[in-house]
Amino acid sequence: LEDALGASNVSTDPLDRVVYARDALPRELLAIRNGILSYQPEVVVWPVSTEQVAEVLAIARKTHTPVTPVSASSGVCGGAIPLKGGIVMDLKRMNQWHAIDTTSHRVTVGPGVIGQDYEETLNRHGLTGGHFPSSMYCSSVGGWINTRAAGQLSTQYGKIEDMVAGLEAVLADGTVIHTLDTPRQAAGPDFNQILTGSEGTLGIITRATLRVFPYPEHRLFESWLFPDVAAGLEGIRQLMVRGARPAVCRLYDEMDTMLTMGALGHPVEGVLVMLVYEGDAELKAAEAAVGRKSLAASGGKPIGEEAARHWWGHRYKISYQQSNILEHAGQILDTIEVAGPWSRLMNLYTTMKEALATHAVVLAHFSHHYLDGANIYFSLVGQGTEGKEPEAYDAMWKAAMDACVAAGGAISHHHGVGSLKAPWMERSHGAGAMHLYRALKKALDPAGILNPGKMGL
Ligand SMILES: Cc1cc2nc3c(=O)[nH]c(=O)nc-3n(C[C@H](O)[C@H](O)[C@H](O)COP(=O)(O)OP(=O)(O)OC[C@H]3O[C@@H](n4cnc5c(N)ncnc54)[C@H](O)[C@@H]3O)c2cc1C
Repeated sequence: LEDALGASNVSTDPLDRVVYARDALPRELLAIRNGILSYQPEVVVWPVSTEQVAEVLAIARKTHTPVTPVSASSGVCGGAIPLKGGIVMDLKRMNQWHAIDTTSHRVTVGPGVIGQDYEETLNRHGLTGGHFPSSMYCSSVGGWINTRAAGQLSTQYGKIEDMVAGLEAVLADGTVIHTLDTPRQAAGPDFNQILTGSEGTLGIITRATLRVFPYPEHRLFESWLFPDVAAGLEGIRQLMVRGARPAVCRLYDEMDTMLTMGALGHPVEGVLVMLVYEGDAELKAAEAAVGRKSLAASGGKPIGEEAARHWWGHRYKISYQQSNILEHAGQILDTIEVAGPWSRLMNLYTTMKEALATHAVVLAHFSHHYLDGANIYFSLVGQGTEGKEPEAYDAMWKAAMDACVAAGGAISHHHGVGSLKAPWMERSHGAGAMHLYRALKKALDPAGILNPGKMGL
């Protein structure tokens, strides 16, 4: 590896091996707090080019060594944990900007570009990426594509899979592929979408062409109160059906509303909805007018801009409270994000909430909306026995995933699968779809060197 990459791009230092032993999966943090480090790579490598990625894979094939790709390690499902040891391949040094095409509104970048750099560079060209995960400061383009990530403004701009126009990837056998990067094509399957969300199991993404947007000239904030979750969701459903597309559309259930509005000094009963429209002023004013009619028709009452503006100002803060909670012995926490069509959404919400109620305090919001449905994002804080937190954590996840599958939800809306949700992949997708995925994996990576132990393969 040192011959291929240079000594400064290879490390067997014990500290590096410990740093790369985990990502942001809370279960692993709980185990580490109890002094248990379950997995470690033998070696960490930092390739700087597509050729070097191919050379690492050639060495791995020859020596039957597992390779776990990693970008920024902010994944919360264990996708970047080296379950079988071997090589961790960190792609952060592949953070090149290959092209910025302001005419076609697309850019080509390396997988290691971090979210903050991505957005700030685009802004200097009068553009926005439209992709704002709460982990904006600590996640990367390669990670977004591999986990099918969603940003906070996704109802308008789409998810990362909507932004992928073309990819370069190195397959396990060393083949470098380039997908066709036209706005659309109808010549067979969409090869971008086969790799997107594959979490490093089918290939290493080494370059991505992504669609970007004009920097918004105008922003509009609104907050509304509804009597209950069902009424608020119906208002949003009607807004989506009529064609309005707010960038931000967040409905908080009763408990989440109480905490959010309480923190603003306005404790209220009911359900809060926050909206932000951004873009062309004329177009967005018309969308907001349509939105208001839909929300009012479903029993909503406007309560001004404050809650929405406050959320906007603090939108990256809430996600970084993990360590405050985890430092207390016995405590467990996580977030669980699922999705369902409108016709099954309320049942999915109540079924999962009931299943989780004995395991944790449960808050929920609905923050990514579609013509045909929405996501549910549960925030959970529970109390286990000191030293036995991972067991309590596993029981909470089992209750959540079993309930989700039974109620016809998707086991992940945007965090991915990793090792955490792997046991539910087959029940969620069905045996036929998993047969297709396993056959693809076997054909492309017969020795199973790419990210083994993940995705239920
Ligand atoms: C505070 C916080 C807030 C978050 N908020 C959001 C949010 O709003 N929306 C959201 O979608 N997610 C969110 N996440 C989850 C996480 O940030 C995303 O899953 C993100 O996409 C992971 O990016 P990463 O660069 O850290 O990837 P990593 O964790 O390094 O890797 C993720 C997966 O992709 C694989 N991989 C990485 N790079 C490559 C590559 N180049 N080729 C092949 N495989 C690769 C890895 O093996 C792994 O399976 C949040 C996480 C945290 C900690």
